[in-house]
Amino acid sequence: QRQKESEVVQEFKLEQDNELRFEVESKEKVTLELKSGLAEVFGTEIVKGKVYSFGGGSKIAVFTWQGCLLELRGKTEAAYVARETPMIIYLNTHAGLEQIRKKADADETKRGPIAMIVGPTDVGKSTVCKLLLNYAVRMGRRPIYVDLDVGQGQLSIPGTIGAMAIERPADVEEGFSQVCPLIYHYGYKEPGSNVMLYNLLVTKLAQTVAERMEANRQNAVSGVIINTCGWVKGQGYQMLIHAAKAFEVDLIIVLDQERLYNELVRDLPETVKVVFQPKSGGVVERSRQARVESRDQKIREYFYGSAAQFYPHSFEVRFSDVKIFKIGAPALPDSLMPLGMKAEDQLTKLVTVQPSQQLLHHLISISMAESGEDDIIQTNVTGFICVNNVDLERQMLTVLSPQPRPLPRTRLLLSDIQYMDSH
Ligand code: ATP
Repeated sequence: QRQKESEVVQEFKLEQDNELRFEVESKEKVTLELKSGLAEVFGTEIVKGKVYSFGGGSKIAVFTWQGCLLELRGKTEAAYVARETPMIIYLNTHAGLEQIRKKADADETKRGPIAMIVGPTDVGKSTVCKLLLNYAVRMGRRPIYVDLDVGQGQLSIPGTIGAMAIERPADVEEGFSQVCPLIYHYGYKEPGSNVMLYNLLVTKLAQTVAERMEANRQNAVSGVIINTCGWVKGQGYQMLIHAAKAFEVDLIIVLDQERLYNELVRDLPETVKVVFQPKSGGVVERSRQARVESRDQKIREYFYGSAAQFYPHSFEVRFSDVKIFKIGAPALPDSLMPLGMKAEDQLTKLVTVQPSQQLLHHLISISMAESGEDDIIQTNVTGFICVNNVDLERQMLTVLSPQPRPLPRTRLLLSDIQYMDSH
């Protein structure tokens, strides 16, 4: 390893099965180039001679099965070569999944594996999902990625859950290309904010994914990889159990936490295989602040693109042209509920919202629902807008939207999550 610190150009020679880990200082940029050999970033092969660029706060691992020479330019917070990684374990997991896919290839009555990755926060759940998906597509599979992480999800903005068929490896700089993900509106950044609603949406998403597998044999054979939230205690644990049952998972990979592993083995039927795997030493713990920032960044990217290359539109929407709803009414005691309804039903009730200053800076999901007959809560959404101004006198909202007016649909779902548009 030769380091030319003064020029901030660093060269790293990696032996086989080594990994270069680096973090980019905030507000800085670091480029990566493969000089020789073969290497991959979270399961996506990098191309020799191509310059990859990573923005501030990125935490990256470049792994090589064969050995390689890498060059980094720019200010890294830490850059070192690790010899101990769990990559071989993850590769074996992939091989195991591939076995099940091969069986499904040969027998039409069988489907591919449905695997769920669980564990506390910052153990690399999303990264392992990405790795398994990338290895699968590189072998010509078309797995479905399900992301149940409402706080730090990868498929859409915070406050949503969703699924997407993966057609090609993740872009090294930008992740999976988000072509037609199927997204449901939840509206909070914490899964515990409305457990009833969360479980309802997970059930709905599981049904939709099952239907997709029925309709598309290639997806069915390739199977599903499910990413989950890092909340694994108490109610959070019960929500994992619910998700495992809803998706009829075959395999659960528990990262890093033995207690969680034991609980799942105890509580799930024997047909569900539960395995314990170590987390990678490279996964960096993120502070509360870093989580807030990464959520904000996800939303900013939705409107402005990952390199601020898009120009979102700002336009007015008449109050009378849209119907805004939120999900969940204030809880009433059971004694006050209409006959046959429980207090919990309030939590999944659609409530009309009258436009007011309360909407300011809130995100709003645009439902695909077309008529009042549709079950808006369980209908997927087609996009998001952000309320930048409320003019009560003129009865107008000013919204930020990635698409020009008019809004594609008029039924809107209010999110609890706010975004301050500073552009
Ligand atoms: P959360 O619970 O917040 O969803 P998580 O368990 O899904 O977190 P990841 O998002 O996969 O964790 O990983 C956390 C961070 O660590 C990410 O920025 C990721 O890029 C980085 N990371 C993962 N693996 C490595 C590695 N081997 N070397 C360096 N950085 C890594």
